[in-house]
Amino acid sequence: MSARAGIGYDLHRLVDGRPLVLGGVEIEGDGRGLEGHSDADVLTHAVIDALLGAAGLGDIGQHFPETDERYRDADSMLLLSQVCTFLEDHRWTIRHADATVICQRPKLAPYRDEMRLSLAKTMGLQPLEVNVKFTTNEGLGVMGRGEAIAVTAIATVDRA
Ligand code: MG
Repeated sequence: MSARAGIGYDLHRLVDGRPLVLGGVEIEGDGRGLEGHSDADVLTHAVIDALLGAAGLGDIGQHFPETDERYRDADSMLLLSQVCTFLEDHRWTIRHADATVICQRPKLAPYRDEMRLSLAKTMGLQPLEVNVKFTTNEGLGVMGRGEAIAVTAIATVDRA
């Protein structure tokens, strides 16, 4: 049995007039959302990079380039689904993912279970095999000032 872990990190800028989508869940907020070529789901992007890292299969920018018009406003959950299939094709079984969302506002805790279920379902995992945590940045730096949301993630995969 070969088991491996991978890490992922992503950050997107918060701007006016965009929906805020995290883990495939639309968050009711103050009208500010994440800027990006796709739907800018920073949580899903970090999980994708953790999965690709664990499998040794590159990174999200390689697989879904920002220059590719097919991914404009793309639903990141579809990208996650494609990455899971890609890992399966390489005989990797996804075992778990864990992420920390660094966000000053809005409050995300009410969405915890929904995000977890959404990610788990897309990854073919049980809800307890996906964990999503939240922290503020104590008012400091770009996250603390509410200018961006960042996410760190880890994922584990194995194969016989
Ligand atoms: Mg991203």
